[in-house]
Amino acid sequence: MKIYLANPRGFCAGVDRAIDIVELSLKAYGAPIYVRHEIVHSRHVVNSLKLKGAVFVEELSEVPDGQTVIFSAHGVAKAVWEEATRRGLKVIDATCPLVIKVHNEVNRDYKFGYELILIGHAGHPEVIGTLGQVPDKFHLVSSVEDVENLKVEYPTHLSYATQTTLSVDECRDIVAALHKRFPTIKGPHQEDICYATQNRQNAVKKLTELVDVILVIGSPNSSNSNRLRELGEHCGVPSYLIDSTTDINQTWLEGIKAVGISAGASAPEVLVTEVVDYLKAHGGEVVEEVTVIEEDLNEKKRRSRPRPDALISVPPPDKRKFRRLLLKWYARHGRDLPWRKTTNAYHILVSEIMLQQTQVDRVLPKYREWLSKYPTMQDLARAPLPEVTRSWYPLGYNIRPLRLHSIACESVARYGGTLPKDPERLLEFKGIGRYTAGAIRSFAFHEDAPILDTNVRRVLSRIFVVRPNGKNGRNSEALWRLSMDLIPRGRGYDFNQALMDFGATVCTARDPYCLLCPMHDFCKAYPFQANPK
Ligand code: SF4
Repeated sequence: MKIYLANPRGFCAGVDRAIDIVELSLKAYGAPIYVRHEIVHSRHVVNSLKLKGAVFVEELSEVPDGQTVIFSAHGVAKAVWEEATRRGLKVIDATCPLVIKVHNEVNRDYKFGYELILIGHAGHPEVIGTLGQVPDKFHLVSSVEDVENLKVEYPTHLSYATQTTLSVDECRDIVAALHKRFPTIKGPHQEDICYATQNRQNAVKKLTELVDVILVIGSPNSSNSNRLRELGEHCGVPSYLIDSTTDINQTWLEGIKAVGISAGASAPEVLVTEVVDYLKAHGGEVVEEVTVIEEDLNEKKRRSRPRPDALISVPPPDKRKFRRLLLKWYARHGRDLPWRKTTNAYHILVSEIMLQQTQVDRVLPKYREWLSKYPTMQDLARAPLPEVTRSWYPLGYNIRPLRLHSIACESVARYGGTLPKDPERLLEFKGIGRYTAGAIRSFAFHEDAPILDTNVRRVLSRIFVVRPNGKNGRNSEALWRLSMDLIPRGRGYDFNQALMDFGATVCTARDPYCLLCPMHDFCKAYPFQANPK
């Protein structure tokens, strides 16, 4: 009997991250750490974390007052956050970043008055959490038949989202049925089924061409593991979900030539090894991997690994308070700057590049002079490089005019002298990094795009993630995520301008104006001391 191993299989980056969060929290705060709901749907993982001191509960009422509680990778409803805040619990949020993305989409669409539809399985914790993002107007559909029977109030103002661990094929059929019945329905740019789920499903499809039986390692309540088993069956290969070798029924293997093994995104590799050993002891011979894509989990893990400051979450009431105070402050104290009077993407780009490492006062005259000389991308692209460099004088950092010129040439060649608003396309330009792309998207296209420059990093670090020793948090990914989470829907432009002004004029690098600061009663760094003893 030949043994084929699906690749990729098992842990995804989101699951790895959630487990890391529990282990890091146990190290940082000591046992017991309460975890609301199974951190991931794997009996093996849950039992091993229990041994280390994690206490798994289904409801917050089981968590004693003042204790620390971790929300699982599946995400939670808003009411759960509110209850935790009301009871003064310390919350660590291990929600998978992709689920957070779905929550953000749902909240945005609800705010814009859409009647919402979620494609997912009733009772799954992720579905409960997503439905709990809004108080009403949310329908759940799990099949094409559900779509046909759906009764909606506003058929021309509908929006849908998806559970992240669905079967890609099944979801495609449901989405097609939605579009057929409601042609104007709005959905995510790309269905929100996670890359890991898709990759594992593709690998199982490949297995079905080679084997007589498929064993999927995963717990019965793991949605993505169930989808893998169903996919195998759907392709005509008997497929079984097993938690461990004890679930294997010998009759499944009788007379077969080849067996395939896969594992759901919450099943650790140690279980795969145990199953392979079991099969070898029962007539299995050669072991071969069937690879559809190489997933660099370590790379994803490096990028998403939580550092201590990434574990600090901001409860929704604090987010709301911060937004309200910041926008109120900006309405009274925001600076009157010429690049705030335009939505011309080129003009915004010029201002952003000039402002890199340079004070506003020095940029102002040069910005006006530059735009009178090169009013459009085309004008700049046509100008000879030595002249462009001379025109930059006396701003310094002379790599900047060269970058600007190269962006102008590329923009003319590829986009007719404009800039795209799609973040991935913006990042393709040499000289446009993540911050500049965010600035162009929010200031030129009025999108709710995050920005993180020196000022914003300083403000967010001091207010939300300062460490006990007074040092700022340095985890860029956590700050990028926070910067995105904080943006009030539809107010990205004002909010980002406000953050930058606040950092430049109130929460300054040295000697911030803490006594006058509207954030001082909840700022973690207040009163700021440059060199705390
Ligand atoms: S209280 Fe001080 S450190 Fe905190 S945000 Fe305000 S100015 Fe910055």
